[in-house]
Amino acid sequence: MTLLRSGSATDTGLVRSVNQDLAVESANLFAVADGMGGHAGGEVASRLAVDALSASFGRQPTGAGLSEAVSEANTVVWEHSLGNPELRGMGTTLTAVALVNEDGRDALALVNVGDSRSYRYHDGELTQITTDHSLAEEMVRTGELTSAEAAVHPHRHILTRALGVSSDVAVDLWRIQPVRGDRFLLCSDGLTNELDTAQITEVLSSVTDPGEAAGLLVRAARTHGGSDNITVVVVDVVVGEDDETSEPTVAAVSSDFRSSTDQTEAEVDDATSLPPAAAAEAGLPSRRERRKAKRRQRRAARGRRLITFRTLLFVILFGAILVGAFAAIRWYDTNSYFVGVSKNELVIYQGRIGGFLWYHPVEVQRTGATTADVPGNYLGALNAGVEESSVGAARNYVANLVNIRQQQLNPQVPATSPATTPTSSPTTTKVT
Ligand code: MG
Repeated sequence: MTLLRSGSATDTGLVRSVNQDLAVESANLFAVADGMGGHAGGEVASRLAVDALSASFGRQPTGAGLSEAVSEANTVVWEHSLGNPELRGMGTTLTAVALVNEDGRDALALVNVGDSRSYRYHDGELTQITTDHSLAEEMVRTGELTSAEAAVHPHRHILTRALGVSSDVAVDLWRIQPVRGDRFLLCSDGLTNELDTAQITEVLSSVTDPGEAAGLLVRAARTHGGSDNITVVVVDVVVGEDDETSEPTVAAVSSDFRSSTDQTEAEVDDATSLPPAAAAEAGLPSRRERRKAKRRQRRAARGRRLITFRTLLFVILFGAILVGAFAAIRWYDTNSYFVGVSKNELVIYQGRIGGFLWYHPVEVQRTGATTADVPGNYLGALNAGVEESSVGAARNYVANLVNIRQQQLNPQVPATSPATTPTSSPTTTKVT
């Protein structure tokens, strides 16, 4: 035998002008709906949804019946919006817990669509049962965001699933073993946006009466900002399975007997595909928009990795090219020689005639031969610089010029080794 005791509270908050939230409390059904949509849409959607839920569950008070009741509520809101253009795009979140009897045993059935939440307070610990159907929460599941990042993410209020915004909706369903002393908290995001788990736990652990606890939570959320409508339902299991030693059993299945967290991304997308007009009016992103947003985020994440890798590769390659270029320039410069004239003396230089880039020619050897010691018709070339392949070749060149000059002055004197003609003729002179 299971008995439940409940209490609830709701408040418009400090920012909104109307309260589009609704709480449901009956003997065996408890729910929170958070309506949305322009004009009166949000209020209409949440009202239609909870009325349809209550009526449908009353006809079939089972776990499957509760899930079916959510689908029926979806149909009612969806068809109402189709017939009333001014309400187009309205929708609502819905989370509910119901006492059901299946196979002769009491059980709690819990359902959720959207980002209102259901928690279980057991043995001093508060655990969120439902999973938010929001873009930020999906990004947490896919590892794109941490929970802390999701809590402040600009997309945390964008729903990926809501009631009444398309002809079908996927419903998450859990079956829970009722344990005496357990406390269930159902709330709209107006509570969880303002209070963290520790603050909520503090109230639930210290205030025995469920109505008082609900009222205190709502007042605390108002005090912390009250930026949205705030609605809380607290449900206590006062008589039930008295199993202090075992952990409570929470069996999660969606309406098609899969946990929402087991759904693939594609399935989630299918479940949340909205007609573009309805999505736009409800402030929801269309499936295309959500996919584009995801693609952008994946690309950005990939881009961050690629940029890092590419930048590193670029720096390494660029560095290698620079080092190679410096080495080549240095080699080219240090393996070049020429003969020039300095203060009327023939001098052998290392480097390029006139210099090359930042390298200037370096004097290697003063030959001792003056401009008077070489034939006059070579002076023009020597003043400009005569390239040679090595220091030795440059020495030979100078020696040959001196020899030629000696021959001119004393034709009877035999020419000396190594040669009788210079290795470079005046016509090969390079002027830079
Ligand atoms: Mg809200």
